[in-house]
Amino acid sequence: MDVTIEPLACGTLTAGRSMFEAGGDDTPIEIPVPAWLIRHGDELALFDCGMHRDLTEAGPAREIVELFFGLGVGPDDLIGAQLEQAGVDPADVGTVILSHLHFDHVGGLAQLPDARVLVQRDEWRAGFDDDLAAANSFNPDDYDLGHDIVHVDGEHDVFGDGRVACIPTPGHTPGHQSLRVRLHDREVVLCADCAYFSTTIDGGPLPPIGHDHAQQAVSIERLRALRQAGALLVPGHDPTAFARLPERLV
Ligand SMILES: [Zn+2]
Repeated sequence: MDVTIEPLACGTLTAGRSMFEAGGDDTPIEIPVPAWLIRHGDELALFDCGMHRDLTEAGPAREIVELFFGLGVGPDDLIGAQLEQAGVDPADVGTVILSHLHFDHVGGLAQLPDARVLVQRDEWRAGFDDDLAAANSFNPDDYDLGHDIVHVDGEHDVFGDGRVACIPTPGHTPGHQSLRVRLHDREVVLCADCAYFSTTIDGGPLPPIGHDHAQQAVSIERLRALRQAGALLVPGHDPTAFARLPERLV
């Protein structure tokens, strides 16, 4: 059984370093917005799915995001176009695993209406709690779309054979999760926003925005333990690390 990971480039966000690292200056940083195509034999899954197509055009959705970020997203950066570029019909993606409900991870769901969605129960619950949704800048227009939802509690073996597993890494948001993937002869962990940058994994500053920084620090320790055990950790928004990835991790 071959299991592979293809990084998909779903646009960029730009803001001062202080948006991404507490205590940082205002030097603008452009960060990638990745999604991850997982091929598990003939089955296709995504880990996160990029931004909503409404953000490619002027309008209220774009205006809200542009209060905080410079937006680099066009039609070619949307999940549908990225999948087609990878030779995949979006309708063939059976499963979307969500790291969390922020707009740059979940907005592509609108283009994947028939996929089942795996999300931590705590995250999904927060998405429908008015106070937690507001505190975490969740926008239900991104995810309250009637998908078939699989609520995950803690670790979860996605395909039942130990090759792809959700691992809870809360803190950035209430129910954030990362994804552990066993490739041919190595293990890769897609950290998502538990660690924006390689430096975050190594104890660098956390972003000022976050649900629970102490909890996030514990989650990062958990990631470091996986690295200690031999896994390659892939941070969520690191421009250098993302640029260095091959077209396909095997
Ligand atoms: Zn986030």
